[in-house]
Amino acid sequence: MSKNKTRHFDYFVIGAGSGGVRSARIAATHGAKTGIAECSNLGGTCVNLGCVPKKLMAYAADYHAHFEDSRGYGWDAPQNIPFDWNTLIENKNKEISRLNGMYKKTLENAGVEIINGFAKFVDEHTLDINGQIVTADKILIAVGSTPNMPDIEGGHLMANSDTFFHWPHPPKKAVILGGGYIAVEFAHILKGLGVEITLLYRGDLFLRGFDRDIREILAEEMRKQGIDLRFNTNIIKVEQDGAAFHLHTTTGETLSCDFPIAAIGRTPKTEGLGLQKLGIKMKYNGQIETDENYRTSIPHIYAVGDVTNHANLTPVAIKEGHALADNLFSGQSPRCISYDNITTAVFSAPPIGTVGLSEEEALDKGYKTAIYQSNFRPMKYTLAGRDERSLMKLVVDAETDKVLGVHMIGLDAPEIIQGFAVALNSKATKADFDRTMAIHPTSAEEFVLMRTKAR
Ligand code: NDP
Repeated sequence: MSKNKTRHFDYFVIGAGSGGVRSARIAATHGAKTGIAECSNLGGTCVNLGCVPKKLMAYAADYHAHFEDSRGYGWDAPQNIPFDWNTLIENKNKEISRLNGMYKKTLENAGVEIINGFAKFVDEHTLDINGQIVTADKILIAVGSTPNMPDIEGGHLMANSDTFFHWPHPPKKAVILGGGYIAVEFAHILKGLGVEITLLYRGDLFLRGFDRDIREILAEEMRKQGIDLRFNTNIIKVEQDGAAFHLHTTTGETLSCDFPIAAIGRTPKTEGLGLQKLGIKMKYNGQIETDENYRTSIPHIYAVGDVTNHANLTPVAIKEGHALADNLFSGQSPRCISYDNITTAVFSAPPIGTVGLSEEEALDKGYKTAIYQSNFRPMKYTLAGRDERSLMKLVVDAETDKVLGVHMIGLDAPEIIQGFAVALNSKATKADFDRTMAIHPTSAEEFVLMRTKAR
């Protein structure tokens, strides 16, 4: 493409992450002349610095327990099997490059023009992408978010989820700040890879918003693994002394480590896009406001995904981007996606899968609840001798018998919950669960076998 010639598109997407790529591809398949700008690798946070590398590294971490457990099944796995950090990072990087290539091919095959560079608004219909000027009838902002850093002295010295995946050498001792998805997932990865972990969370129990029973089991299991969990604790100052970091806490202690990581949420990446001069309505943290059709305060400019700070999950951004492209270019009546019962998983150890209301949310909403739960040791851990529990829990509306929430912590929880999410979204009742035949022997069967109310 020539640098000076202005090109015009029906639809131009800023940001080739989960939401942007899907939206661009679908728009192009509906016949819209579509372009997309990306200033980094294709695939966004999920592919490059989030879900994908996280899951690959969590698989690596899981081998630690697999080797240990194999002995009870007769395998003579040696103690202290060596682990090579560089092999993992190199192989993970290769897989991500392969995925970057697939994203490129998918976009090109759909007829989307990819422009590498940082897009800035010149005016409502015009973008400057590293000197290339494009205009478009409709523009989608899908630029995602960036990790927050602690606003304290030395806070910038901490690693975050952007730097974590490219850390050049295996850490020995890590202190993780935060009590959300990333903090507990990183704790799992690093612990499995042999790193000593302290996790600090400012509240009384991490994973705020998840069912309390599930959170309590996770805390118990992490402590059993030797992770030092400290709640009601924050960091007030970070100091660096060569390769060592000293973290001063609100409880008056100083913790030293070679790998301090902040996992304290994310902020929409709207800086530098030129949105203020267009007058696009944003909240204090750069979050773009949209209506239910993803339209910003400027009617032909849209936003989906993390930049709206709505539900910062890849599948949500993908569904939003897809729905928007359909609504704009398919010629069919507009559809909105449902944000009810978003299924989610935390790849902690043990992992969590959850859909619908927690017991606390159900009570807050005024439901009379019937709680069914099963707390057991998975069969796999019997011969292995592993002392790890699973908890499965159903939150039921006692008046209508409708299942309001399905929660699990334990082996395979994310895989198990996906199917139950379909049942929940189909408004299944506890009686529907009860008349479903169990698959024996599995953990999942417990969800259709619970007969006695816990409360
Ligand atoms: P989360 O929003 O999940 O958690 C942030 C955590 O940091 C909370 O525990 C919060 O405490 C704490 N916190 C916030 N500010 C401070 C502060 N100034 N000092 C100390 N602690 C603080 O964010 P994450 O960074 O873990 O993840 C970012 C997003 O990425 C999530 O919203 C999630 O949607 C997504 N994600 C999803 C994954 C998945 O689906 N498996 C995996 C990884 C990320 P408090 O509870 O008190 O507010």
